[in-house]
Amino acid sequence: MSSTLIHSGTLVCMDAAGTVARGDLLVRGDAIAAISAAVPDAIATLPDRRADESIDASGCFVLPGLVHGHLHLCQTLFRGLAEQADLLGWLRERIWPLEAAHTEASIAASARLGLAELIAGGVTCVNDMGTVRHTDVIGETLAESGIRALFGKALMDRGDGVPQGLIERPRDALEDALALAKRFGGSAGGRLRVSLAPRFILSCSEALWKEVRDASLERDLVIHTHLSESPTEGREVEAAVRSSAARFFEAREVLSTRFVGAHGVWLEDDELALLRRADAALVHCPGSNLKLGSGFARVSAWRRSGLRIGLGSDGAACNNRLDTFHEMSLAAGVSRALDHDAALSAREVLALATCGGAAALGLGAVTGSLEAGKQADLIVLDASAPHHAPNAAADPYATVVHAARASDVLLTMAAGHVLYRDGAWTTLDGARAIADARAEALGLVRRAAVAG
Ligand SMILES: [Zn+2]
Repeated sequence: MSSTLIHSGTLVCMDAAGTVARGDLLVRGDAIAAISAAVPDAIATLPDRRADESIDASGCFVLPGLVHGHLHLCQTLFRGLAEQADLLGWLRERIWPLEAAHTEASIAASARLGLAELIAGGVTCVNDMGTVRHTDVIGETLAESGIRALFGKALMDRGDGVPQGLIERPRDALEDALALAKRFGGSAGGRLRVSLAPRFILSCSEALWKEVRDASLERDLVIHTHLSESPTEGREVEAAVRSSAARFFEAREVLSTRFVGAHGVWLEDDELALLRRADAALVHCPGSNLKLGSGFARVSAWRRSGLRIGLGSDGAACNNRLDTFHEMSLAAGVSRALDHDAALSAREVLALATCGGAAALGLGAVTGSLEAGKQADLIVLDASAPHHAPNAAADPYATVVHAARASDVLLTMAAGHVLYRDGAWTTLDGARAIADARAEALGLVRRAAVAG
């Protein structure tokens, strides 16, 4: 079992005690073996009484790996192809035709490009929505990348503007999703888990929601969906099902501790109470909400209601960054503008992208904080650049949320494996990912017959 000592950094642990300390951290195998004062004793138990590798983190923050709570890896190739639109027009005129035009090769290129960007930006865990076809290729790409992931196949069986190629019969869609769970659930050393991903109310029939609810309960699978994202969507949902999203889900027993809903911009207080009662989780996507003009999610109200909350950038077509640091900065700014003195603190914002985000995905015991026994999912962040100076250490939370950039990440480790270090990926070829993505994007645009 290999061991790595990360020494002389400032550990920002995101544990319940709020530990921030200058010190060392020992990784053994896929887990964190010891932190700070416990490190010398742990090293004494190693063969030769020394770690296999030693990494100097002086001048750096050592943080839990970032948890990306809502993502569409299949949309990375669409970056820059779906601009100046609101949600439903964006989906119907651009995103769905492009998704329907994907091949196995274009999906793989899209996922690989997104993962290269995410891993270089310190993300060690993602929650991906997939698409209707070829999601097994996303699973293979996730496995090869070394990242931790919860992912599913998007489920759609109806809806205005949905191309025929994305519509399936409910039973067929579920069978495909369950085959994915059988193949990938717990695979890659336990890094991969599979969810059920009904896209949103407007693309899923009553029969499909029932299948999803039953399968989630029987097989303990997360339900990953979108809800209450934009005003026009809210009006169409109201017209289609005579209910708002959370009330619809509550009435059909879709809400549970396995429910992860993205956006939730327009949820009302009584809907938050329904979600809380079911111990459901929400994922805040401020960059996407701003770019699509969807609105400002009331994350302080979510927090007050006691919900588990994560943070995500959504896909690259509606952001256009897959950059959790950018997302944290936006989350902090939106919260401050909406809630003033009741806004989320910098530590609470960082929690959305670490311990809180992990808890939102049901992975709180596995990842999201630097604690002995948890998986060794961590990043080393350079805090010595001009944009951090002169007071980077005064409040590490504020520095990370308001000053740090994805390009400050020097090292990304998941399950004890270094995935990225000093500008180079160990599991992916960054230059090749970009070149393949360019070539595949050209073909995709031609097949989809949308203007590039
Ligand atoms: Zn989304």
